[in-house]
Amino acid sequence: MHIYWTKINKIIEETPEVKTYMLECPEDFTWEEGSHTHLALEGFNAGDKPNRSLIRHMSISTLPQENSIGITTRIKEQCSEFKTILRNLEIGNEVALFKTHSNVPLKREDKNVYLLSSGVGLATFRPLVLDYFERADNVKQIHSLNIDSSRDFLFTTIFETASDKKFTSQFVDNRKDYYEEVKKLAADKDGIFYIVGSDEFLVQNIEVLREQGIKFEQLMLDKHEKFKTDFLASI
Ligand SMILES: Cc1cc2nc3c(=O)[nH]c(=O)nc-3n(C[C@H](O)[C@H](O)[C@H](O)COP(=O)(O)OP(=O)(O)OC[C@H]3O[C@@H](n4cnc5c(N)ncnc54)[C@H](O)[C@@H]3O)c2cc1C
Repeated sequence: MHIYWTKINKIIEETPEVKTYMLECPEDFTWEEGSHTHLALEGFNAGDKPNRSLIRHMSISTLPQENSIGITTRIKEQCSEFKTILRNLEIGNEVALFKTHSNVPLKREDKNVYLLSSGVGLATFRPLVLDYFERADNVKQIHSLNIDSSRDFLFTTIFETASDKKFTSQFVDNRKDYYEEVKKLAADKDGIFYIVGSDEFLVQNIEVLREQGIKFEQLMLDKHEKFKTDFLASI
């Protein structure tokens, strides 16, 4: 396993609670849209075993063409040790990245794609949408639905409905509206449904989609295939 140590080049305040850390791109570091990585803080590998409290899974919210590795995360006032340290990092400080992989690349199967997310889950979808805007081949259209009770919606200049691009974006701030909308989207019995959020959020979405006749094969989750199979079987 290769550990990439890299510098923070820029910190973007997306909303009062959400920041994007723009990291320098090491020369041989590559990724595709929908990737997640392990973000680790100084000292994580100082002992015999890696210190898990200094490591978190994070999606990469940028595309390689942007020449920067974007990590978007919510840091609330009450937060973990990891986020407390992250919040105090500055431009020029180093973080580590390793085990980068995409479970949710953009499927180009001549179907409609639905991106269902909660809060900063939208960060996972940002590169998928940018990839689609660059090249729409074999994707009929994309519809994004994001729920964020803070109402400080993210990436609103990208996630903006554009009928010429066959792209629709919806933001809602409550569960009732969210699941009513999911039911409507599930009228498309041939669509591909990506879901990103907490496990509880995944379970609720899958239940609603299944009730509407959407099959497991139509679901894209940011989980390894084995985990996905076990996870889906447990519902
Ligand atoms: C494949 C994958 C991709 C992911 N991508 C992302 C991503 O792109 N961005 C992202 O942000 N996360 C992502 N996650 C989730 C991420 O790994 C973390 O689990 C998540 O950000 C929570 O971080 P945390 O454990 O440091 O807790 P925090 O975010 O600090 O806290 C979680 C909750 O607990 C509360 N809390 C924490 N500590 C205290 C305390 N001491 N007292 C009271 N309340 C407290 C917080 O207010 C918050 O509501 C991803 C996970 C996976 C599996």
